[in-house]
Amino acid sequence: MVSAKWGDILGANLDELYREVILDHFQNPRRMGTLPEATHTLGLHNPTCGDKIAVDLQVEDGRVADYRFSGHGCSISMASASMLGDAVVGKPVAQATEVARGFVDFLTNPQSQETPPGDLEALGGVRKFPARVKCATLAHNALMEALAAHGVHAEPH
Ligand SMILES: [Zn+2]
Repeated sequence: MVSAKWGDILGANLDELYREVILDHFQNPRRMGTLPEATHTLGLHNPTCGDKIAVDLQVEDGRVADYRFSGHGCSISMASASMLGDAVVGKPVAQATEVARGFVDFLTNPQSQETPPGDLEALGGVRKFPARVKCATLAHNALMEALAAHGVHAEPH
């Protein structure tokens, strides 16, 4: 399912170990789907690449109790959305927001001191491809906007 375009980027320019981690998330995405009881939902579109990703969150007692993502996109956008779930489920809302903010900083700020949690660090090679940064940060921006739009104490509706 990896198109030649994305396959070339992943194959030629990313570290072998990181490439395997990214491809694994792309081919076996974690927490893909929707949450019928979602308290926070937000979709974003990356027109430069065509990625469309929606993030569903279930916030309970100030924590991200569950996470799902849906949509379609390139290997980088889908792998990043898959990795993000592992990094935020179970965390307090403020900490989940900080994970997403830190990851965006990691990819966009050359002086960043951030070290993304879990498999997200594998996407560090994307920094060499400025056009791909929007792919890698799409789900993260959706999560931040979803949590900000509804406030941290939103009740299910
Ligand atoms: Zn993309």
